[in-house]
Amino acid sequence: MNMFAFEFNEVKCGCCNWEVTHLYVLANSKKEARRLLKDGDAGLCGSCMCDLLTEEKYEIELSRKKRGGWEKLIGNESGQRR
Ligand SMILES: [Zn+2]
Repeated sequence: MNMFAFEFNEVKCGCCNWEVTHLYVLANSKKEARRLLKDGDAGLCGSCMCDLLTEEKYEIELSRKKRGGWEKLIGNESGQRR
């Protein structure tokens, strides 16, 4: 599953009802994300999306392409995880 961001001039978050400029959708493809958003089945503001991600204990996985750069950034500490 991936997260997709959609930009608006002004839109209401379906969860907290705040007026925001970006909504985020969890879906398997951009096409699916667009459909979920259009049907009103998804679309959360940044704050609500982060609440969902932390409360539901999602795991964030880097794409293989990005992984190398990230490890370089945090320093490769394999075997030292607590
Ligand atoms: Zn919200």
